Amino acid sequence: MGRIAYVNGRFERHARAAVHIEDRGYQMADAVYEVWALFGGKLSDPEGHFARLERSLGELKIPMPMGRRALTHVLKEAVRQNRVRDGLVYLQIGRGVAPRDHAFPNPPVSPSMVITVKAIDRVAAEAKAAAGVSVITTPENRWGRCDIKTVGLLPNAMAKQAAREKGAAEAWFVDELGFVTEGASSNAWIVDAEGTLRTRDTNANILRGVTRNTLLDVIRENGLKVDERPFTPADAEAAQEAFITGAGAMVLPVIAVDGKPVGAGKVGPVATRLRRLYIERAIATAI
Ligand code: PLP
Repeated sequence: MGRIAYVNGRFERHARAAVHIEDRGYQMADAVYEVWALFGGKLSDPEGHFARLERSLGELKIPMPMGRRALTHVLKEAVRQNRVRDGLVYLQIGRGVAPRDHAFPNPPVSPSMVITVKAIDRVAAEAKAAAGVSVITTPENRWGRCDIKTVGLLPNAMAKQAAREKGAAEAWFVDELGFVTEGASSNAWIVDAEGTLRTRDTNANILRGVTRNTLLDVIRENGLKVDERPFTPADAEAAQEAFITGAGAMVLPVIAVDGKPVGAGKVGPVATRLRRLYIERAIATAI
């Protein structure tokens, strides 16, 4: 008998089991997981794993798809169908399937749930334990590689959701020194009090926005002053204008940060002009 997986209410052949392409776990890492060891077909440390699962889900505001008793039943059924005595049970619960958008689906959708079971060779495991293993060290960088456009978007999704809940369109991340890095799905800019365009340099740990880069060309060609230098939220408040850039946002004026108006609290002439110039450039160079 081949392996069996549980996917959203159904037991299926493992080789054919699949989730939807817009499952947020797949597209944004918007999901949590647990792994239980199996001893003689029984789940180890049940309390610890269930408690952590509930905590992880609670932190992400994903509801438990079913109660502990029902979940235990489904996990045990997956173990039974796979006829595994010694092994591991993997459970993944995600926010569900929704059209791609960083913020959480509204209204919420049903969480998705996947279970797989694999056998482990206890004899081999004991032999390995008897011999011991070695380790290496590596810099702690989880997740410090915002320059890579990965689908590990859970922090971005949570930030965007926080923005939505406050009636804002975007969230700007602020680093430990108090400087804005970038938006959850855009790069951040101001026109500072001196009239200089400011956006963070890309040596810092941010995504190298393609729109940002093209706009820098447009800005320089039009003889505007630009400085790739970070700014704080207070700088934004004192600025004449602010805006964000991205393939979706293009050049989108920002009129308030944390509820405080930027400049006059109105869309300004520089962002308006840059939006027009950027769109003209984008249309002219599109293939
Ligand atoms: N920064 C982040 C975190 C993003 O997700 C995006 C776009 O999705 C951007 C910046 C802007 O990049 P681009 O102009 O290439 O769309």
